[in-house]
Amino acid sequence: MNKHWNHKIILITGAGSGIGRALAQLFAGEGAQLVLTDIKADGLAETTESVASSVLLSKQADVSSLEDWRMLVQEIEQGPGHIDVLVNNAGMAPFGYFDETSEALFNKVMDVNFNGVVYGCREMLPLLEKAERGLIVNVASIFGLIAVPACSSYHASKFAVRGFTEALKQDLMFQKKSVDVVCVMPGGIKTNIANFAESDSADARDFAKHFASVALTSPEKAAKVIEKGMRNNTFRILIGPDAKVVDWLYKLLPTSYYRITNPLLGIRKILG
Ligand code: NAD
Repeated sequence: MNKHWNHKIILITGAGSGIGRALAQLFAGEGAQLVLTDIKADGLAETTESVASSVLLSKQADVSSLEDWRMLVQEIEQGPGHIDVLVNNAGMAPFGYFDETSEALFNKVMDVNFNGVVYGCREMLPLLEKAERGLIVNVASIFGLIAVPACSSYHASKFAVRGFTEALKQDLMFQKKSVDVVCVMPGGIKTNIANFAESDSADARDFAKHFASVALTSPEKAAKVIEKGMRNNTFRILIGPDAKVVDWLYKLLPTSYYRITNPLLGIRKILG
C-alpha cells in the first residue's frame, strides 16, 4: 500500500461507472476514505458496495445542481469537516452535428461537464483549504485540446474545463493557497460513456460501437495513471498512447491536425 493516500478523504463525482469507479476502488486499496457521488443511484450503489469499508459518505447527487453541492458541503462539515482531494470526474458525451443538436442538449452538456466542475471547485475550496494540502483533479479530455466533427458541445465543455483548470491553478498559486490543481486528459477509455451518449439526431448506437473499437485503455489503467499524476502533482495527466500522439500532433500542426487525427480516429466510419 502507498502511504500517500492512507486516511486521506477523497471526493469522487461520477463514481458509479468507468473511471470514477476504478478510482474509488484504487484509492480504497490505498487506505483512503471516500466520499462518492453519482446521479445514477444503481451504479453508485454497486461501487459503494465494492469498497464499503472505505466509504465515509455515498450520495446520489447531480453535479449540475448547486443545491446538491451545497447539501454535500453541509454533510461533510457535519462529518469529517474537510476533504483532502476533489476529483471532478462526472461527465456525459453527446453525439451529433451542431445544427442538429437542440439548445437544451447543448446547455445540458455545458451544465454537467463544465458548470459541474466550476460548482465543485467553488463549493469545495473552503473544505480543501482545511486539509494539510488540498488537491483538485479536474477531468477534461484530449478532446479539450483537439476537435472532431459531431461533438461540438462536448468540445466546448472540455476546452472550457482545461482553460478554467489552468487559470484556477495560477489563481491558487498567486494567492498562496494550500491547494494544488491538476488536469486529466484521457484518450479513449473503455467505459460506458458512449453507451450513455445522448443525441438529438444521429443514431448514437453507431457512435457507441465505433467508440468501443477505438478506445484503447481500461478504466483500471486510467485510474493508475491518474493516481501517479496526482501523487507527483503532474499538471497535465495524459492517459493512453492515443492521448500522447494527439498531444504531439497538436503541437506539430496546431491548425491542421484534423487532417491526420480524423483518419487516425476512424471518423469517416461513423459519419460516412
Ligand atoms: P462513464 O459514463 O462510465 O461514467 C461517468 C459517470 O458520470 C456515470 O456514472 C454517470 O452516471 C455520471 N454522471 C453523468 N452525469 C452526471 C451528473 N449530472 N451528475 C453526477 N454524475 C453524473 O464515463 P467515463 O468514461 O468514466 O467518464 C468519466 C470522465 O472522463 C468524464 O468527465 C468524461 O468526459 C471523461 N473522459 C472520458 C473518456 C473516455 O474515453 N471514456 C475520454 C476523455 C475524458
